[in-house]
Parts: sequence; C-alpha cells; structure tokens
Amino acid sequence: MRTSIFDLFKIGIGPSSSHTVGPMRAARAFGDELSDSNLLGRTMRVQAELYGSLALTGIGHGTDRAVLLGLSGEQPDTVDPAAIEAILQTIRTDKSLLLAGQHPVPFHEANDLLFHNDLILPGHPNGMRFSAFDDEKQRLLASVFYSVGGGFIVKEGENSAVSQPALDVPYPFSSGAELLEQANGHQLCIWQLMLENECALRPREEVLARIHRLWSVMDACMDRGLHTEGILPGGLNVRRRAMRVVARIKARSLPDPLDGMDWVNAYAMAVNEENAAGGRVVTAPTNGAAGLVPAVGRYYLNFVPGATPDGIVPYLLTAGAIGILYKENASISGAEVGCQGEVGVACSMAAAGLAGAMGAPNEDVEHAAEIGMEHHLGMTCDPIGGLVQIPCIERNAIGAVKAINACRMATQESGGHKVSLDQVIRTMYQTGLDMQSRYKETALAGLAVNVKDC
Ligand code: SF4
Repeated sequence: MRTSIFDLFKIGIGPSSSHTVGPMRAARAFGDELSDSNLLGRTMRVQAELYGSLALTGIGHGTDRAVLLGLSGEQPDTVDPAAIEAILQTIRTDKSLLLAGQHPVPFHEANDLLFHNDLILPGHPNGMRFSAFDDEKQRLLASVFYSVGGGFIVKEGENSAVSQPALDVPYPFSSGAELLEQANGHQLCIWQLMLENECALRPREEVLARIHRLWSVMDACMDRGLHTEGILPGGLNVRRRAMRVVARIKARSLPDPLDGMDWVNAYAMAVNEENAAGGRVVTAPTNGAAGLVPAVGRYYLNFVPGATPDGIVPYLLTAGAIGILYKENASISGAEVGCQGEVGVACSMAAAGLAGAMGAPNEDVEHAAEIGMEHHLGMTCDPIGGLVQIPCIERNAIGAVKAINACRMATQESGGHKVSLDQVIRTMYQTGLDMQSRYKETALAGLAVNVKDC
C-alpha cells in the first residue's frame, strides 16, 4: 500500500485533476527544482511543452492557465480561485512571470508554451517537458513530468508508482481480497482499518481534522453550485442546472416519489458545475468525477434513516480504501483508461462508502464497490470541445444515482456474488488499455466529434 487517502482526496481547483491540478503541480515542482539547485537566478527563459492528451484537450481543460500559475509558484490547494484571472491577466499583459514566485523572466506564450498535438511521450499520454535557459540560451535544466490522473504527478526517471515506497501501516493491502482478509481477520470494518492505517502516518486528531476539512470543502462546493446560476466558461454555452433542479423540487405542490433522486442529481451537478467554472473542488478521485462522492455523502446525511454527521468519517475512509485499490492496481486517468477510470471509479468508491457509512458488513462493501464499477466498464472519455462539461456533468449525476443503487443491491442480499472487486478492477484496466486512444481524453472521437454545433 503506497497511497494515503489524503493523496487521493486532494483539495484543488477545476476543471481537471489530470489537466489542471497535475500540470500546475508539475510546473510548480520545476520552479522548486530550479530554486533548490540554485539555478533560479541564472534562468533567463523558461519553456513548457505539452504532449498527447494535454496538448489535444489542454486549452479546454485549462492546462495553459495551470502551467502559468504553477510556474509562478501557485499551488492548486492554496491558490485563491477568485484571484486567478488577475494573475493570468498580469502575466499575459506584461509578457513576464515571476518564476517560482521569486524571479522575473520574460514569458511569451506563443513561443514558451508549446502544444505538441501529434506527439506522445513514452511514459503516459499526459506528458510535459519544462526547460530553463541562461542568458546565452544554454539549457540549464530540463525535466519531464507525467500527470497520471487524480492530480498525481510522476517525474521521469524517479518516483514512479511502482518505485514509490510502501507505507508503514499496520494493515497493508494491495488487493480487494487482502483488504477483506485484513479487515475480517482483525475484526475491523474497512473504515476502521483505514483509520488505523492513516493514524500510523500522522496523529489521530490530525487525521480526523483533515477528513472533516475534506468534507467541508466538498460541502461548500455543493452549496456554491446549488446557489449559482449562469453560463459555464469555454464557449459551449452550457447553462448551469443544479439551482434550477432544486427550484423545481421546491415548487412541487405534492412530493414526487423520486424527489430524492432529483436532489442527488442536483448535488452532483452542483459540484461539477463549480468544477467546470474553475472553482475549488476535491479530487474524488479526479476533478471530472468530483461530484459523485460529495453527492452520495449528502444523500447519506439527508436521506438515510439514522445517519449522523459523524458518518461522513466512515464514508470517506471506505471510499478512500476503494479508490486506492484502483489507483494502485489500475488507473484513475481518463487519458489512460477512459471515463470508466474516473466516473466509474468514483461510483465504485461512493457505493462502497455509502455501504460502509450504513454499517454494512465488509463483504457487502466490497460487493457494492464491484457493482459500481461493473456497470461502467468500457465507458469512454469524449468531452465535447475538450471541456469538462458534456458529458461530464450529467455523467456524475447518473453515476451518483447508480452508486446508491449499487449499494442497495449489495446490501439487500448478502453473499454469493460471482464477480469480485479485484476481477472488475482488472477488467477495467485491461479494457482501458485496449481502448483506442482517440476515446481517451483526446476529443478526437465519440460525442466530441458527433456533436459539433452545441
Ligand atoms: S468524460 Fe469522464 S474522464 Fe473524460 S473528462 Fe469527462 S469526466 Fe473526465
């Protein structure tokens, strides 16, 4: 086990974890590298090059903006979303940026931020190269980074997922079967096992405070989305819907038996509309799929009999355990395995989290996670215009409802299911690798080419 839930759930900004959060972190890391190697003062020019999916859908996903911000020393979890436009405006007007937040260098976007649409670096479809030059145009430093999904980055030549050290935790697991074996063998719920593992890495009070902080950011994001109207940026003229869904529910003179489903739709769309607008979100496990886990969490709080605010802790810990299995055994990158790796994984996490929060046996939690993925297998990533809007926003709402259904199916009839979580994770990964790359976050196929005039 090499991942903490605080690596998986990251506070960042929209619209994309792989195309916004990851590149911003990589650009910031390059600035730190220059600083740490005492090359910052000698740097007279910096250049960023984007490859593969980052080049093809980078503009729609805000990768250009993320790189500029990261080179300027900003970080996804601390940058003020309301200040971003002003920072970018200054860089673009002055044709200069403050590298690593300290050292001014000229920056001409046309020459210094290059999109290689037809090239893919060998390590991953989301590749970036950063270079720094001195006053004689000699290269001082060049680094390649990959944004491997969910805001995670890997620097070429080091720190790959496989070489990442195992965490020193009391109940390590590397598969769903091991997770069940460890939890059942020690008479722990999956969330309790995760809590003990996290508490081996940092003090218990800090673990609980960070979980509550994650939930408060998710919750605030939902609230903002539920109270905001308008057109989303990017040019597709997509109108926000979450607030109108709520208005319709509240206007009904008689309760509709499916009011709960409408609420879940509104919760999920609220988050993804905020994400599409570049707002503050939590990767769960990615930005494109950020609406599912918060939506099902709020469904738990508002609709499940006996739910308590403290139930959010088992909810997020259980969901995190499942997300880690996908991260370490398959992929959570739409550019690598399609949307099954984003919305499919989020559905699997939320279904398991809901079962865990409701006190279901560990076997039912595993089953809920399995169902949540089984019915997303093969789902492609084909965002129209390269924007994280269509199909992404609705897809989170549909996925959230599916997660609740998966939990209900798994918990209403225990035992005897034929497909294990490990089998479905393996199937998802193999299917993703077999999928043609034009269906994996390139906007070169699917809805992205068949819907041109919206
Ligand atoms: S289609 Fe799915 S994987 Fe692709 S950008 Fe949208 S949410 Fe992410």
